Amino acid sequence: MASSGGQQSATSPTEAWRSDRQPRILRLNLAGQPIEWLNWQEAVCLYARDLVVWSLGDVVQQVRGGVCRATGRRTEIGLPSIIACGGGQLARPRANYPLSNPALFARDRHHCLYCAQPLPAAALTRDHVLPLSRGGQDRWENVVTACRRCNQHKGNRLLEDIGWELLALPYRPNNAEYLALINSRRILADQMDFLAAQFSPNGRALI
Ligand SMILES: [Zn+2]
Repeated sequence: MASSGGQQSATSPTEAWRSDRQPRILRLNLAGQPIEWLNWQEAVCLYARDLVVWSLGDVVQQVRGGVCRATGRRTEIGLPSIIACGGGQLARPRANYPLSNPALFARDRHHCLYCAQPLPAAALTRDHVLPLSRGGQDRWENVVTACRRCNQHKGNRLLEDIGWELLALPYRPNNAEYLALINSRRILADQMDFLAAQFSPNGRALI
């Protein structure tokens, strides 16, 4: 990125405060492993520090900077949807992803895994397949999305106690799956294509 005499700004004034609706940029390490989602400001910083080594995907946002003193021209950068960055160390994907209800509900596609009912997040709960009171753990492999009715009915009983079966097995998402889950509402097609190539065979399709 050329030197600039001022601060970068969004393409239009209204876009800055609507940043929560803007597409995120998928950051990879140099090995092509997905690391995290960035907002446009964070992506611009990586470009300004010359840390972006290669990129993929369509331009998701044009960002204008200040006027270059040497040339008198305004700097401008087109941010692609996927960027791979270097740096002092090769960034490693996180090994443990926090178990949050939004990510859990997205994993189970907002369906109760007992009665198959699709519901909005506000009507869903986290159910421990092996109840906590019986030594079950609060971890990806032991939790499923459940509607309130099923959760209350099951209580602290085991599935075999009540003759229930899970509609799908709970699983721990890998890093590509987790990133797709936490950004599922505004993920772009080329980002999803990239992440989907790294989904595990054990995970359910997120597309
Ligand atoms: Zn249910």
